[in-house]
Amino acid sequence: MASDVAIIGAGIVGCASAYFLAQHGMSVTVLDRSGIGAGASGRNNGLVEHTYDALTTALYEENVALLGEFLGAAMPGEPVGAMLLVEDEATARELAAHYGSFPELAPAVLDPQQALAEEPLLAGDMWGCLLHTGYPISPLTATETVAEHARAAGVRFLLGEAADLAALRRTHGEVVVAAGTGTGPALDGLIDAGAVTPLWGVIVLVELTRHPRHALIEGTLTRGLLAGAIDDVAPFTLLDSPSWLAVGSTLLAGEEPRGEDWGPRLLDRGPRFVPSLAQARVRSTLVCARPKSFDNRPLLGRVPGQEHLWIASGHGGRGLSLGLASGRLLADAISAGDERLIPEPLSSARLEHPGGRADRP
Ligand SMILES: Cc1cc2nc3c(=O)[nH]c(=O)nc-3n(C[C@H](O)[C@H](O)[C@H](O)COP(=O)(O)OP(=O)(O)OC[C@H]3O[C@@H](n4cnc5c(N)ncnc54)[C@H](O)[C@@H]3O)c2cc1C
Repeated sequence: MASDVAIIGAGIVGCASAYFLAQHGMSVTVLDRSGIGAGASGRNNGLVEHTYDALTTALYEENVALLGEFLGAAMPGEPVGAMLLVEDEATARELAAHYGSFPELAPAVLDPQQALAEEPLLAGDMWGCLLHTGYPISPLTATETVAEHARAAGVRFLLGEAADLAALRRTHGEVVVAAGTGTGPALDGLIDAGAVTPLWGVIVLVELTRHPRHALIEGTLTRGLLAGAIDDVAPFTLLDSPSWLAVGSTLLAGEEPRGEDWGPRLLDRGPRFVPSLAQARVRSTLVCARPKSFDNRPLLGRVPGQEHLWIASGHGGRGLSLGLASGRLLADAISAGDERLIPEPLSSARLEHPGGRADRP
């Protein structure tokens, strides 16, 4: 047998799963058709952000702690704060009441003067709701760092060729599919086609003389995220990570969108929130897909009805915010041969129940 476990996908989820499996003394090979962090893990907005979902909050908190251990000083000690921007007081108060169900977020309503004092780049008439979350990191560095730890723990990486699932199942003890948006195709009919689908993000990388202090997010967007795709809208975010300063991203389902179409739409809306964006120098536009599960929570565990085959995918817009802790959870379950170690809201057993397929509210 080639190794105890083969993992398809060297994104943050595959690399973390590999590291924790090796910690359990298992031999592990990670295969990726491109390279480490070549998918969404190396090209996202780099914000480690609360999930605003009670069923994944503990996973997020564990993930923040793990990132601190892996990244050291490259993981900020404190969140920069996510400032949700809205046009009026009533909506700001409504958001604060909504996020008040997570006391750790300490939501604070800011009138336009207070918002401007907190964030001098803002238009002078925006209301804000400030949440205690948001750790900006470089997503590619984070993925590479986890991969380096995995390598040091004995994990083997085979990069540059597509994985052959059937061959891997014949030659390895267990196989994990952590292939991001490639998970459905890699599993080739073994899960429903709608179980993990691409949610497309277009982002525009810009240069500004002054950078924002906080993660700036159009207020209604965080609620939209829980519902999944937002079609035909270019929602505003301005996120500053060690990798880049990015406007956007979109949350589009369906076919791959064109950067040339969506980049200008994102830039058109930006100055309403941050006037200096009208003069920003545009570096480039990136298009990349999030692996979204049918109910917007990770899918971790055995592929239903299949022996020795596991799935670790569906992290949507929160892979950087949950991926390490997901890898730890999956590795515990695989090494113990006990999928009951995975809490029900995250378990791949959800794939068995058609009733569980509706998007949650
Ligand atoms: C624009 C954008 C912004 C985002 N911003 C944030 C953010 O700020 N914070 C946050 O927490 N999350 C964010 N995300 C989400 C996050 O990037 C993803 O949830 C996360 O990267 C998913 O990790 P993964 O390991 O599951 O998949 P991926 O990183 O996509 O890795 C999958 C890997 O599998 C490989 N692969 C696929 N098929 C095969 C095959 N058949 N054979 C071999 N290899 C294969 C691919 O090459 C790829 O390297 C964002 C995503 C996007 C698109």
